Formats: sequence, C-alpha cells, structure tokens
Amino acid sequence: MTEEWYPVINMQRCTQCGFCINFCPRNVYDKSRNPVPMVTYPEGCVDHCHGCGKRCPNGAITYNNDDTGWVPPRDEVHDLE
Ligand code: SF4
Ligand code: SF4
Repeated sequence: MTEEWYPVINMQRCTQCGFCINFCPRNVYDKSRNPVPMVTYPEGCVDHCHGCGKRCPNGAITYNNDDTGWVPPRDEVHDLE
C-alpha cells in the first residue's frame, strides 16, 4: 500500500450509489457517509488496485498517480461532459 495511490471521485459523474463504499474491503471510504463516497483512509488503499473503479457504474473513479494508462470503463461511452 502507499499514500500515493488512492481513489479520486469525480462528483459530477458520481450518482452516490454507494457501491464503492460497500465494495472496498479496506475501508478506504468512510462508511458513515454512505452512499456519498468520501475517501477518508487513503493510506489503506492497495497500490495499483482498480477494484472499485472497475465496478463504478458511472466511471467516476480514477486514481491519484495512476501511471498505468487505465481509464474508467465509462470513458468508452462518450455521453458525459
Ligand atoms: S460506485 Fe461510482 S457512482 Fe457509485 S458511489 Fe462510488 S463513485 Fe459514486
Ligand atoms: S482501489 Fe481497491 S483498495 Fe483502493 S479503495 Fe478501491 S477497492 Fe479499495
């Protein structure tokens, strides 16, 4: 794990479904704020994990310092922004 890698939420895309909060096994998101995704434990995020981002239905999750070229799934559908 690293403090450099953690999810960044695009709140313009997020529909506050709460999936990422419930999905993450490391409690990176504050469960007390469910369904609003608040990253309050970024140091718990697993380096290079894309787990929540791959499953976000709106492609709202990217990662700080992501150098892999990965893009949220929704980016393939050019219907937003
Ligand atoms: S899974 Fe995506 S849309 Fe749902 S709360 Fe998380 S960031 Fe928002
Ligand atoms: S990338 Fe993985 S470890 Fe990090 S918040 Fe998402 S599911 Fe949790």
